[in-house]
This record gives sequence, C-alpha cells and structure tokens, in this order.
Amino acid sequence: MVMNTKKDEKIKCPRCEIYMRKEEVEVTGPNITIDFCIQCHSYWFDKGELNKYIKTNVIDKNLKRTEGIQSWSKTVCPRCGGKISLKFIEDLEVDHCDDCGGLWLDHGELKQLQDKDFAAFKESRLKEVFSGLKRITKVKK
Ligand SMILES: [Zn+2]
Ligand SMILES: [Zn+2]
Repeated sequence: MVMNTKKDEKIKCPRCEIYMRKEEVEVTGPNITIDFCIQCHSYWFDKGELNKYIKTNVIDKNLKRTEGIQSWSKTVCPRCGGKISLKFIEDLEVDHCDDCGGLWLDHGELKQLQDKDFAAFKESRLKEVFSGLKRITKVKK
C-alpha cells in the first residue's frame, strides 16, 4: 500500500532538517523501529505508532487542541508536508499533524509523559519504551 511505502521513507527532522535515523528499540516482544534525530534527540511517531508501542491509546485519548486558540506551530510535517498544530496531553504541549496523525516529541517531552501519573500510563509500556529510547540517545550520538 502507498501509506506503508511512505512510512518506510526517511524523513527529515522538522527542527534540524537533517535526515532522521531509523533506530531499533529493544523492548519485550518484537523490537520497534523509531525515527530519531541524532542532533536534537527528537522522535517521530507515525499515527498510532506510539499507542501500539506502549499498548494503550492513552495518548490519543488525551490529545487535546487548545480551546478557542487555533495554534499552529511553524513546523511543517516531515511525513506529509501538512501543517503541524500544537496540542496538549494534559499540560504538556506537543506537535501533532492533523493531516497524517503523526506525533513529534523530543526527549524531554517523552520524559515528561513518562513521569505523568496517569493510571493508564502506569499500566502501559511507556517506561520500557522510554528506557529503550534512552539507550539510543546515549549510545549513538
Ligand atoms: Zn533534530
Ligand atoms: Zn503529516
């Protein structure tokens, strides 16, 4: 399918404009592959990807647009070229593409997600995925 082919394509980090690396993250079960920027340590998750990895849709469920404010970030979606909008997961501001549903998080943002005290997060594999990502950030600079 066309969508799959596109997903396999390398994308450029919206911030640094260098190609993001495909990195394999070790988790229990099949390893996961993630688009990772070695320069600014940010991660790109295609639609549903993060949910799949942490095995809960808590992210999607909590993704909210700011009420009354049409807030677009200046960022263009690296996957589809659409406009990225600023959304919130609780009080954490994240970049999300309305067109393809991609989510762009940097390391600090992921850490904040991990530290959130959602019951649903505690049940999720977010911690495990995060420690895998941390290894990538450390080992390969
Ligand atoms: Zn970057
Ligand atoms: Zn997009």
